Amino acid sequence: MLSTMQDEPLSLATLLRYASTFVGDSTVSTWTGSGVRTMTYRELGAESARLAHALRGLGIGIGDRVGTFMWNNNEHVVAYIAVPAMGAVLHALNIRLFPDQVVYVANHAEDQVVLVDGTLVPLFAQLLPNMTTVRHVIVVNGDASTLTAPAGVQVHSYPELLATQPDTYDFPVIDERSAAAMCYTSGTTGDPKGVVYSHRSNWLHAMQVGAPSGMCLFGTDSILTIVPLFHANAWGLPYAALMSGANLLMPDRFLQPGPLLEFMAAQKPSFAAAVPTIWGGVLAGLEANPQDISHLRSVIVGGSAVPPSMMRAFDDKHNVRVLHAWGMTETSPLGSVAHPPATALTEEDVWAYRITQGRFPAGVQARLVADDGSVVPNDGASLGEVEVRGPWITGSYYSPDGAAVDAEKFDNGWLRTGDVGGISPDGYLTLVDRSKDVIKSGGEWISSVDLENAVMGHPAVAEAVVIGVPDEKWDERPLVAIVLVEGAEAKPEQLREFLTDKFAKWQLPERWTFIAEVPKTSVGKFDKKRLRTQYAEGALDVTTLA
Ligand code: ADP
Repeated sequence: MLSTMQDEPLSLATLLRYASTFVGDSTVSTWTGSGVRTMTYRELGAESARLAHALRGLGIGIGDRVGTFMWNNNEHVVAYIAVPAMGAVLHALNIRLFPDQVVYVANHAEDQVVLVDGTLVPLFAQLLPNMTTVRHVIVVNGDASTLTAPAGVQVHSYPELLATQPDTYDFPVIDERSAAAMCYTSGTTGDPKGVVYSHRSNWLHAMQVGAPSGMCLFGTDSILTIVPLFHANAWGLPYAALMSGANLLMPDRFLQPGPLLEFMAAQKPSFAAAVPTIWGGVLAGLEANPQDISHLRSVIVGGSAVPPSMMRAFDDKHNVRVLHAWGMTETSPLGSVAHPPATALTEEDVWAYRITQGRFPAGVQARLVADDGSVVPNDGASLGEVEVRGPWITGSYYSPDGAAVDAEKFDNGWLRTGDVGGISPDGYLTLVDRSKDVIKSGGEWISSVDLENAVMGHPAVAEAVVIGVPDEKWDERPLVAIVLVEGAEAKPEQLREFLTDKFAKWQLPERWTFIAEVPKTSVGKFDKKRLRTQYAEGALDVTTLA
């Protein structure tokens, strides 16, 4: 029996129409360093129409890829919605990837047009000659004449190109399974791989992001979107904001703790999103120059494990609730969010849930798989590789020629996440580590993340990163690299002593090194690959305790 329900496609054109009419007074604002440039969602609708006309004029049609090489700002949000709404495919390029990798992904995705921020023109100019499919570059917020284009590529000025375009567009409502946007993994553990989101997946994901079991967004919120729009589908925030009528606050290129805090002081966001390294910097900035940030009712943090000491610092010192979340580019990215259940009654219970990677929502099925391929129970104690499936989880990687890419990442309809952890009977995920980062010492596992979190609880430690290094007797042992808080001192003996009541004796690290800075990936995660290379090249000064 079929339902009587209308078969309305879940399209981003419909979302744009909604945002620019019924919540048309809501706004997106970009920090200029001293104030904001603000656009209402009604104006965003008109600008989206102008951009769609302009792109169509450049020959962009259904399914064509339009790249962006931009900071988080008003125009980037316009592209985020206008490009898919017109039936083309948005490809936000990661401006911090190595040049070869940016060129690789632009060519792989076959980007035809790229929108580039004026301040990024010098960087982009070095990449453009090797981009084989780009025919048009549109310079946004800057002087287009500063970009010398190779033969066959035309350069346009965004305001000039859009000035003469009509401010309405007949946005097509296309099959909801069509491609809407693509995002490449940041290559933390390998070559970037392309994930293609559909209108349907982005729509359903945005509903989950806005839901109470997701980020719980209200129309009254102002969302400080620090997570770059090119990182993991911007955590779904642009679409979720348009859907909920929340305001968006965009930091543009002002991403250091000082400017971010100035932006916060001026605009008082109620919600914010970024990876832990950004929040570590913000906390340190607040230590030096205290400021009230309690206007933030909640801050969502994910992308790497959030040290419980960081969550406590936000709670105790700043009255801001950190929401820990887990996800991947491949999962759109919302996989799980750590809201405690109603059964957690004591403060201790609540914390026990808050420090997990979170509870899976109804749209994400999850299971644990052992090395031999058997499914292990969700009993909170058994460990395995986390596998997920659902309407906003990718079923494959993008492949221009149709040949399977990394087929071993998929297991009969499940995505193998490469993350090792446990799942409780009530659906909370606790990650031990990435399978590539777990330290295998004498046949037993040591979680690099657990060690990092524990060491970062020491008051003298600003950042700590742990990698496995070869060991003759035990195969592998942990090496802890420490960045001290400015002016603080701590000896390896003292730091190890600090860990003794938190770990079994055999897990306590004997190798320690002090570094000026943890190498970071293009999306601000600890770059363990680079640290391993530094160790292998003998570039680290290691103390080995008896
Ligand atoms: P990349 O794989 O290139 O780093 P992603 O941002 O998609 O790009 O990374 C997803 C991975 O980040 C996850 O598989 C997991 O290992 C890690 N991750 C994300 N959120 C968390 C979290 N809350 N705790 C621990 N690890 C996390």
